[in-house]
Amino acid sequence: MKYRDLHIQTQREFPNNARSEGFGWLVRAGYVTRENEILPLGERVIARIKEGATDHPQAYFASIGIPVIKGLFGHLFFFTETGKEDIFKCSECDYADLAETACSQNFKIQPPEKLPIEKVYTPNCNTIESLAKFLHVDENKTAKALMFVRISDGQFVFVVMRGDTQLNPHKLRKHIGEVRPATAEEIVAVGAVPGFASAIGIKNALIVVDELIPHSMNLVAGANEEGYHLLNTNHGRDYSADLVVEIVQAQDGDICTVCEDACFWQEKGEILVDEKGEFSDRNILLALAETHHDDKGLTLPASAAPFDVYLMHIPGKTMDTRAEAEKIFLACQSAGISVLFDDRDERAGVKFNDADLIGCPLRITVGERGLQNGMVEVKARKAGESANVRVEEIPIHIKDLSSS
Ligand SMILES: [Zn+2]
Repeated sequence: MKYRDLHIQTQREFPNNARSEGFGWLVRAGYVTRENEILPLGERVIARIKEGATDHPQAYFASIGIPVIKGLFGHLFFFTETGKEDIFKCSECDYADLAETACSQNFKIQPPEKLPIEKVYTPNCNTIESLAKFLHVDENKTAKALMFVRISDGQFVFVVMRGDTQLNPHKLRKHIGEVRPATAEEIVAVGAVPGFASAIGIKNALIVVDELIPHSMNLVAGANEEGYHLLNTNHGRDYSADLVVEIVQAQDGDICTVCEDACFWQEKGEILVDEKGEFSDRNILLALAETHHDDKGLTLPASAAPFDVYLMHIPGKTMDTRAEAEKIFLACQSAGISVLFDDRDERAGVKFNDADLIGCPLRITVGERGLQNGMVEVKARKAGESANVRVEEIPIHIKDLSSS
């Protein structure tokens, strides 16, 4: 194709909204707009990648140098510091998942014997932290109460979690629908006391218990009385749940549910392919650019570049270099080589810059001096040196380079 037909507009400057270097190069090279709309060059890359990645996306991305990790539910993740997603991955096995749905293994061996309940005076202990400190117990020996009202029907929802865990609101929403925090009046109306609440003895509430709770014996919980807590509360004996579900937020340092061995790591990243197998075109372009660039522009691998070759002529004084370049363009096309032909009458420097920005694997330069000896210059984007090749040998030379 010809440069002008693609309406390529390269940029001199990095966009000031670039959140990563990769995005900056995509804009400067004319693959996407500053608003991240994909332009014709970008479309070509996406089409090429989709063609290659249909059967085995993970292997394909690896083959073009993009390290991806497959998530538990089939996502393909690309890790990058500037990513928008929080992703958990295991340092020992293949486990990876979005923070929204990530599971961790927090079960700890608990004594099987349920001790009798006991009321204790705990002045000013209205947080788990202050309570654990006051009673000299670990936070994992406490139960905390979170109270909500379901939007759809006004149902009061009482959530019980272990004191050392955090609620993952996405998971709760998945199980019971949208909720909002309960007001103090609503809390009092079900028989609970804010700051000193537990599920014991409350009325008209949907009791949702995290699955760690039935495995955790003798927890400290609120007494539903200002200033008091109860020691040794036990789910099943002292109160029962309407729903036992997994609703904790995975945290850095948790134990992996798959290998039950190593710790979790939370990292930033992007989803390249989602759980339904849908490709995210913008994220794929970003991952490609993040992985393949230098200080002059993109350095795309052959199978993910928009074209195999960037062909350009340097306007001559005595020879029609453009006509010669046109012949090479046609010869390459008949040989099945995809070529971006920059036939603009621009200065050589402008074209060299654009060639570097756009990052096709090879650049062919047709100049007067070389043509006098029947030669043109062939340069690999990533190599410093160039080679002079006889005009008639160009197609075969390029095919050799591509297959090596
Ligand atoms: Zn693991």
